[in-house]
Amino acid sequence: MVEKIALVGIGKIARDQHLPSIAANPDWELAATVSRHASVDGVENHAGIEEMLEARPDISTVSLAIPPQPRFAYARAALEAGRHVMLEKPPGQSLAEIHALENLAWKKGVSIYATWHSREADCVPNARIWLADKQIRRLTITWKEDVRRWHPGQEWIFEPGGLGVFDPGINALSIMTEILPWPVHVESAVLQFPDNRDTPIAADIVFANPPGVEMTAAFDWRQEGPQTWDIDIETDAGHLRLSSGGAKLEIDGETVKEGSDHEYANLYKRMAALVGSGESDMDLAPMVHVADAFTLGKRQVVDAFHF
Ligand code: NAP
Repeated sequence: MVEKIALVGIGKIARDQHLPSIAANPDWELAATVSRHASVDGVENHAGIEEMLEARPDISTVSLAIPPQPRFAYARAALEAGRHVMLEKPPGQSLAEIHALENLAWKKGVSIYATWHSREADCVPNARIWLADKQIRRLTITWKEDVRRWHPGQEWIFEPGGLGVFDPGINALSIMTEILPWPVHVESAVLQFPDNRDTPIAADIVFANPPGVEMTAAFDWRQEGPQTWDIDIETDAGHLRLSSGGAKLEIDGETVKEGSDHEYANLYKRMAALVGSGESDMDLAPMVHVADAFTLGKRQVVDAFHF
């Protein structure tokens, strides 16, 4: 059965990924958008979510492609109205908010999905399978990009709840928590806050680990030139490198696989499956690491940042 879906927030990621992925998936019909400033040709738009929910009881599913700060109110309204909900990453601005949404979805008997698009990168499953029987000796995450290039003028990202450099960093954490054979937790962190901002522009994390295994993550938003989204893992049987955000896999320097981009296509397939089976998927492990880094992080103040 084709499900009618409403897309909320017609911004950067909606145009880059959500709209083409919904259009290409025969399980979904884009029946409405909710946007305060934009619209999509040929699709009914509503300025507010309450208005859309009232006008369109036939729409079963709401996909939220808005920043984390307003997400809770939108998700709650959709769930209260008995609709299935798909959440962009990060699934909210705090863990308590996300737990409340999960409980509400359960009470209402609808599906809720905390998406992690980077987990859908082509080589992530290969890395997980390869690592399953290896002894890990060291893990190094290097996630360094230019915030001016990827988030031009997005002030929300530096406002409380916007997560700062953890907005891309949580993508690395979503891959790490998917491919490691055992769970880890944050032991310490150093967070660099620009003098004029409320969220960090760089972060270094140390994870607690079995003796002799060093596990660290370095996130930085000030990298100009080549961009780096790498996870390096030394094992007893060789060196695994996932690069390009999970799209390329090398073992001991040899390319094993270089995939193409199906991340959002896979998210919409998975949402259709969840709605079909009446299940939810709310793995919050990446968000727990971010929350712990904020709790444990030592704060350093660095130069002011201006877009
Ligand atoms: P964005 O372009 O800055 O914002 C998306 C849209 O959200 C805006 O166009 C606006 O839509 C709506 N919006 C913004 N502030 C709002 C508010 N206070 N209340 C209600 N609606 C508001 O952001 P984005 O880059 O698309 O990111 C949105 C989410 O996707 C974030 O959680 C981000 O982490 C995630 N994401 C982004 C990327 C990326 O490359 N940018 C990649 C993966 C995931 P209207 O004007 O239409 O109302």
